[in-house]
Amino acid sequence: MDKECIGCGLCEAMCHKKAIRIIEDKDGSFCDRNTELCDNCGVCSKLCPVEQLKEKEELSQVDTVAIGRSKDEHVVTNSASGGIVSETLMHLFRTGQIDAAIVAFFDHHANIYGDVIENEGDVLKHSGSYYHTSNQLINVKKIKQYNKLAVVGLPCHIDGIKNYCKLTGQMDKVITISLFCTIGRTYEGFRRFIKHETGFDVAKGEVRDYQSRIGDRKLIHIEDDKGNVYECPDEKYKFTMDFFSANRTCLECRKMYGLSADISVGDAWHKVNEENGVKQKRAIISANTKYGEVLLGTLRESLQLEYVTNGAYELASSQRYGTGLKQFHNESIVRRLDKIRCLRKLNDNPLLFRVSCRLRGKLLDKLGADTEKVKDQLR
Ligand SMILES: Cc1cc2nc3c(=O)[nH]c(=O)nc-3n(C[C@H](O)[C@H](O)[C@H](O)COP(=O)(O)OP(=O)(O)OC[C@H]3O[C@@H](n4cnc5c(N)ncnc54)[C@H](O)[C@@H]3O)c2cc1C
Ligand code: SF4
Ligand code: SF4
Ligand code: SF4
Repeated sequence: MDKECIGCGLCEAMCHKKAIRIIEDKDGSFCDRNTELCDNCGVCSKLCPVEQLKEKEELSQVDTVAIGRSKDEHVVTNSASGGIVSETLMHLFRTGQIDAAIVAFFDHHANIYGDVIENEGDVLKHSGSYYHTSNQLINVKKIKQYNKLAVVGLPCHIDGIKNYCKLTGQMDKVITISLFCTIGRTYEGFRRFIKHETGFDVAKGEVRDYQSRIGDRKLIHIEDDKGNVYECPDEKYKFTMDFFSANRTCLECRKMYGLSADISVGDAWHKVNEENGVKQKRAIISANTKYGEVLLGTLRESLQLEYVTNGAYELASSQRYGTGLKQFHNESIVRRLDKIRCLRKLNDNPLLFRVSCRLRGKLLDKLGADTEKVKDQLR
């Protein structure tokens, strides 16, 4: 428990002795438990999703899958992959199906955490994907104040929220929306990248605005308290940081699509549309429960949506590397990922960087080949 952690914040929020603090350093997240305060009640172990993350997701259970984006260009611009999540939340508020939602917030050092919004008007202020660790469940206790909520999170957050609802008898209260996830990146990696690219250290400066993966160029956009703007392409961030700044626990995680959620949303990387040389944002959506199917159906008014046959195959195809990584969980690949992760941590030496990029390229080739094997089985 003290070693394996993805920093969701659930145990810290729920410990009645306030004995837990979630910490992140260069090695990733860990849970710091004060043994003098702890009375061994066991709640934190019951809630922690880490062990569940090691179970492979069954692609054969996938049924209804669609590809699409919002019909509203403003929503698309503000969103990560076409605004499916944002449109879903707005629809749920508009139709009175929820009175609150847990989405991602940022603090004045660009740390990401989950908190509650209470109306449709606030949805777009929290769109886009912040590609680093999120204490998404740190405010989970607020759920009690509401009748029905939507919770947005990565597959690990969805497993965590389900554990919480089960333990507190609130299973019927929550609608879950999962984001796909190949790998989680650390805050430290994000901080280093932004500092290298823009000179701004988010850990030292005051962040007033932070949006990620927005606009046609999919920018990371940061504004400090003096009004200075720092921007860089999200793709460059992902290239520099994917796998290099991963949380150790993420290397063991086998949850790519979050199939335990009502709906799951990711990028339709395999069906990229280009208009005027610009790649159009489009998402792939899996409806995983009966309620999720109904919900997807009712979203047709606000979404351009195309249902696909053989949904499992399309899901696997959409994640060129993630499918291979998580469906096979090839031990030797994980060991090699861990090595390049350590190599990059050592220093920012340009030669080491080039070597680790080359190693990364070879690993991606292998992961891509594993993904092809999964696709062959599903064809
Ligand atoms: C860390 C991370 C890794 C991802 N990896 C992949 C991947 O490998 N492959 C893939 O296809 N898709 C991945 N995604 C999902 C993808 O980026 C989009 O979030 C998803 O396709 C939904 O797009 P959208 O336009 O419908 O969402 P939007 O309408 O833009 O809404 C996004 C929602 O996500 C919430 N959110 C943002 N950042 C976080 C965070 N760190 N933790 C929890 N909630 C957050 C926002 O508050 C918002 O409610 C990842 C997302 C994140 C945050
Ligand atoms: S066992 Fe109970 S008291 Fe101890 S850290 Fe966990 S939740 Fe807190
Ligand atoms: S994964 Fe979540 S619940 Fe588990 S130790 Fe880390 S913060 Fe606590
Ligand atoms: S790989 Fe993604 S879903 Fe899995 S533990 Fe890491 S952040 Fe969570």
